Amino acid sequence: MSKAFTNIGSLVTNDLEQGFGLLGEISDAAFVVEGGVIAWVGSATELGSTDELIDLGGRSVVPGFVDSHAHLAFAGDRSAEFAARMAGTRYEAGGIKTTVAATRAASDEELRKQIASRVAEFHRSGITTFESKSGYGLTVADEARTVRLNSEVTPESTFLGAHVVPAEFASNPDDYVELVCNEMMFAAAPQAKWVDVFCDRGAFDYDQAEQVLRAGMAAGLMPRIHANQLEAGRGVELAVKLDCASADHCTHLSARDIELLAGSNTVATLLPGAEFSTRAEYPDARRLWGAGVAVALATDCNPGSSFTTSMAFCIAVAVRDMYFTPEQAIWSATKGGAMALRRTDVGGLSVGMKADFAVLDAPNATHIAYRPGVDLIESTWISGKSVHRRNK
Ligand SMILES: [Zn+2]
Repeated sequence: MSKAFTNIGSLVTNDLEQGFGLLGEISDAAFVVEGGVIAWVGSATELGSTDELIDLGGRSVVPGFVDSHAHLAFAGDRSAEFAARMAGTRYEAGGIKTTVAATRAASDEELRKQIASRVAEFHRSGITTFESKSGYGLTVADEARTVRLNSEVTPESTFLGAHVVPAEFASNPDDYVELVCNEMMFAAAPQAKWVDVFCDRGAFDYDQAEQVLRAGMAAGLMPRIHANQLEAGRGVELAVKLDCASADHCTHLSARDIELLAGSNTVATLLPGAEFSTRAEYPDARRLWGAGVAVALATDCNPGSSFTTSMAFCIAVAVRDMYFTPEQAIWSATKGGAMALRRTDVGGLSVGMKADFAVLDAPNATHIAYRPGVDLIESTWISGKSVHRRNK
């Protein structure tokens, strides 16, 4: 059963041999899907016969966005905290503690419902591959269960027991690190692919973070890290030393950090939603790109500091405030995200890759940044099957 998509005004392939420019764009394009993967890509005039033909009416197509950093498994609401922060007043209630308490109190079914509604939002925003972290349970049982619930919706499930030190360990954080590295790791690792740690001021220091990541690697997980969000600490240095797939946030980087990243296989994942929602200074994406660092853009969807599921929003902010070109931002939200998850089957549309893509009500992909706040996603497809259609 072969299905052709044709009459595509502009197709982003991310395959330099296939089309022009950084995004390997093809005008007046078509592609064929067979068995959920791309079987042919080219000019619409050269399309052969297929079992089914879908005319996209001159719309543009991009590879499905790859969101390499999200925290979907949580309960509770923190809109009051956001409102207070934007009003410049001090917020007295518990911040992340509010989410931890609500998540611990929620049943599996409640959490499943919350996760599913966020996944549906991802599909509506053109995201077809996403990572999701634990980190709001912070007990052995709650971390194991949030890792498991994430693994029900994505193969990219991450154990983030070392998100923050929970209140009950405030006076002996090293005991919590021991718990994360042993009992919690054994309980969570079988359902996870990744281990992550928040290495920053007020969270875990370099030695603690190294201990957590090494314990995860010993348990068969691949490392990634929250690094350099709040200050130019040593998180990026650790990421490169341990060959982490990605160092995430990278808001404050030294010249040495950029040099280390450029010479490594570690992707710098930028999270514009976090700077936006905390009114923080943005990192300079153009500087990273110019230095030869591979960059990903991700939503960081989480209740405290970036409650967005819109990759288009992240792209627009990265272009406006991080000095990316639209092409660089789109590449980072697709190919860059795939690299940050060490995936080669997603993030582009060339023969053999998964047929994951989004159809835009726009003549080309630049419109994603050019028309901020406008929902241009007409439909989203995973393995050649529609998971979202706006006009249905
Ligand atoms: Zn995060």
